[in-house]
Amino acid sequence: MIDTLRIGLGIDLHRLVPGKRCVLGGVEVPGPTGMEAHSDGDALLHAACDAVLGAAGLDDLGTLFSDRDPRNRGRDSREFCAEALRLLRAAGLTVWSLDAVIEAERVRIAPHRGAIRASLARLFALAPERVNVKGKSGEGLGEIGRGEALRATVVALVGGDRDAARRAATSD
Ligand code: MG
Repeated sequence: MIDTLRIGLGIDLHRLVPGKRCVLGGVEVPGPTGMEAHSDGDALLHAACDAVLGAAGLDDLGTLFSDRDPRNRGRDSREFCAEALRLLRAAGLTVWSLDAVIEAERVRIAPHRGAIRASLARLFALAPERVNVKGKSGEGLGEIGRGEALRATVVALVGGDRDAARRAATSD
C-alpha cells in the first residue's frame, strides 16, 4: 500500500443566487451572489472530497452525505473533509497533493487565492506547496459566463500513508 499512487477527479457545479453566502475551500468570498445548496454549498470542498474519495475507490460525497438527509442541511463542508480524510486513513491512504480550478464569472477568486489555498492545505493535512488553486472566468459563455453558476474541478493525488504504516509497525 505504501507505494500506491492513485489519481482522483472531482467536479461540482452550483447555481449562484443573490443573498446567499459564497464559501470556497472554507473561506468566505464576499460578492453579490452565493451558492444555492442543501449544505453550505462549498463547491470547492465538495469537488476536493470527491477527488480524494474517488482516488481511494471509496463512496462519493453524495452517497456518504445525502442532500435528502436533514442532518446535512446548511452543514459546514469542512466536516465532509474531516470524514473523507478519516475514511482515507482507515484505508491506509493519505492525500499527497491537490490541484483545483474554480470557474466563475463574477466571483473574484484572485484576492482570496492564498487564503483558500492555505485552508485547503489545512483541511487535507498537506503542506501549502502541495495544494494549488486557480480562478478562471467563463469568458461570457454558458451558465458560468452568464454568472448563473460556479464550477470547481479538483484533481487529487492519493498515496500510501507512511506515517500510519510506521505507527502500525511500532505498535506491536
Ligand atoms: Mg456540491
